[in-house]
Amino acid sequence: MNDCAAARRHLVPAVAAVAMALALASPLRAQAPPVPPWPSVPADGLMASLRTLSSEEFEGRGAGTPGGARARAWVRERFGAIGLKPASDSFEHPFSFTPRGRTQDGAELAAVHGVNLIGTCPGTDPTLPVMVLSAHYDHVGVRGGEIFHGADDNASGVAVLLEAAAHCIRQPFRRTLIVAAFDAEEMGLQGAHAFLAAPPVARDRVALNVNLDMVARGDKGELYAAGLHHSPTLRPLLDPVAARAPIRLLFGHDTPGSGNDDWTLQSDHGVFHEAGIPFVYFGVEDHPDYHRPTDTADKVNPVFFANAAATVLDALRALDAGLE
Ligand SMILES: [Zn+2]
Repeated sequence: MNDCAAARRHLVPAVAAVAMALALASPLRAQAPPVPPWPSVPADGLMASLRTLSSEEFEGRGAGTPGGARARAWVRERFGAIGLKPASDSFEHPFSFTPRGRTQDGAELAAVHGVNLIGTCPGTDPTLPVMVLSAHYDHVGVRGGEIFHGADDNASGVAVLLEAAAHCIRQPFRRTLIVAAFDAEEMGLQGAHAFLAAPPVARDRVALNVNLDMVARGDKGELYAAGLHHSPTLRPLLDPVAARAPIRLLFGHDTPGSGNDDWTLQSDHGVFHEAGIPFVYFGVEDHPDYHRPTDTADKVNPVFFANAAATVLDALRALDAGLE
């Protein structure tokens, strides 16, 4: 547990007491929705996951590489230990694709074999459309003899995905949460394409994709939630989350025509968007170590990371409660 989380836990009863006093003093205040308890996420478990996934052993987790396969085996084992149920007879969903481009001799590039990991946390109301929580576990592997560790991109998202999955198993959501660790995002969002080509539930039963990609490097103390430009009805659900978040949760990076500032198609959520499925994407702005070998675990501030994870979890609960 980090100091901020501990401090916040002490604050919550005081805030609740003030809220109750105000409610008693003013009948109007009694109409305000209750503030649910803040979900605390200990930093040590998150950091342990992030360090493991970005370690030398996994060699940058390139899709179709031995390091990628070792990373997958580790995530798969965690899915089972958490108590997620396989979406079919296995957590593993293999797919193949041929990367764009040519070899130096002008030949087509060889097919790459990727594997998505998909588990479910059953909801308390199976009649409701589901939410898909996603994070890509692959990164760019080894280039020029150097390991690209991908601590922020995207060991961080997978670490939060695992924590959120464990929370869901302990205290299920109303709607079923499909937990997807995608492969080959770095080669053109291939895992997300494969997922939606053969989804574990019909597409029209997917209410929302919540995608996590680069959520640990809060160099500015800011985390973005993108996607509300396309789905403005989600804004009232996330405004209270931003108001009580221990970090700055900002909305944006989703305005068409804003070039690279528009993140709508820049990670796996883009495939859901193109399929007409609303998304909320959580991520930080680019930093100097983005897609460099220096994207390492030691650059991550554990306090920001834990607070970002708690904010994502709070948002998931708010979205689960408030979605139509
Ligand atoms: Zn990424």
